[in-house]
Amino acid sequence: MPATVETVFASVVARNPGEPEFHQAVREVLESIGPALARHPEYTEARIVERICEPERQVIFRVPWEDDRGRIHTNRGFRVEFNSALGPFKGGLRFHPSVYLGIVKFLGFEQTFKNALTGLSIGGGKGGADFDPKGRSDREVMRFCQSFMTELYRHIGAETDVPAGDVGVGGREIGYLFGQYKRITNRYESGVLTGKGLAYGGAQVRREATGYGAVFFADEMLSRAGGGLDGKRVVVSGSGNVAIYAIEKVHQLGGRVVACSDSSGYVHDDKGIDLELLRELKEQRRARLDDYARHVRHARVVSGRTVWEVPCEVALPCATQNEIGGAEAAALVAGGCVAVVEGANMPTTPEAVRILAGAGVRFAPGKAANAGGVAVSALEMRQNASRESWTFDESEQRLRGIMRDIHDRCWNTAEEYGLPGDYVAGANIDGFRRVAEAMLAHGLI
Ligand code: GLU
Repeated sequence: MPATVETVFASVVARNPGEPEFHQAVREVLESIGPALARHPEYTEARIVERICEPERQVIFRVPWEDDRGRIHTNRGFRVEFNSALGPFKGGLRFHPSVYLGIVKFLGFEQTFKNALTGLSIGGGKGGADFDPKGRSDREVMRFCQSFMTELYRHIGAETDVPAGDVGVGGREIGYLFGQYKRITNRYESGVLTGKGLAYGGAQVRREATGYGAVFFADEMLSRAGGGLDGKRVVVSGSGNVAIYAIEKVHQLGGRVVACSDSSGYVHDDKGIDLELLRELKEQRRARLDDYARHVRHARVVSGRTVWEVPCEVALPCATQNEIGGAEAAALVAGGCVAVVEGANMPTTPEAVRILAGAGVRFAPGKAANAGGVAVSALEMRQNASRESWTFDESEQRLRGIMRDIHDRCWNTAEEYGLPGDYVAGANIDGFRRVAEAMLAHGLI
């Protein structure tokens, strides 16, 4: 890290104590952008790095709600509006007990560069709550979402800040959030949230976009290396929205997903994960993976171990941050893995990235590989604004084109800076340059 940036990093750590995930995300970007700063002294002169690490606005609020037995709960809600240089703040909401300010900041920071990489007009933001939707009834989730939106509504808007889903926030939650926003504001403002249902302003392919996009990215990356996904053995972690549609697209492109996981363990099905069954268990019944083996006799359910011990050529981490550490990376290398493509946000630790690089494993960071979700969110905003709706095929073609562009942008930027094949550097430098140029143009704000 160059000396000037080192000072900025030290001040980020000092000013944001106890937020290791945020520090990790900032460090990773700052370590990459040295060559761009050397070429553009005007960035340093305008203190772009310092300003880019400080969110434009952070909101923390109380979310009180009543469960089905009449007990009162008090959760904490967040919205971090990180950077609006390229467009309205844009990024999902995460409902998970692990959510605190540091997680939201790390996600908002990543989102800023991810959104820039899509080439679409969206700034970066993120939000959520330390609420655990697991085991809660629909009515409890509805009451929580209504209480959450009763505060959030005053900070968001189609031209201001546009939330969407993330871990723990899917179609059901977005529906309740949208309903409450509409009720409080007396406005049918379709573009205020994305990830909406198709019945009320949602876009085709938004639900599938993050998983499909990551697989399109993997296919581009492998094609550059001399062969696409066809015939490849793949392991996916997670079994939520990103994982499910990643599995679907891998199968459509001729690969075979032999394992996936949830917080209780993993399922290994050498014949290929039965997607219909997985969707029924996870999307409809919100059940655990253990049930999979009850339906599929030859499958093996393993608890308390990492899914990365299952040998594969391609790994798609689609669960959560820091799920691949040093030991998991070593297991992947030992199992013959040639490519890791992040469907989740920051699932690979810096130590794991080093181990993978040392073994020549190709690595695609989430801010490039999982940008398909937010890219289709931007397409949803566009359709809402023009009151149009595109077909599934047309939307999927657009997603494929966007992922190819992101891939090529990372690839070409890495080449331009003499770092061929370094997707991390390519993604960070290109995303940073786009935001920096817009910030320079806007003056000191
Ligand atoms: N939560 C998703 C992400 O991490 C999507 C955000 C959005 O669609 O705004 O990129």
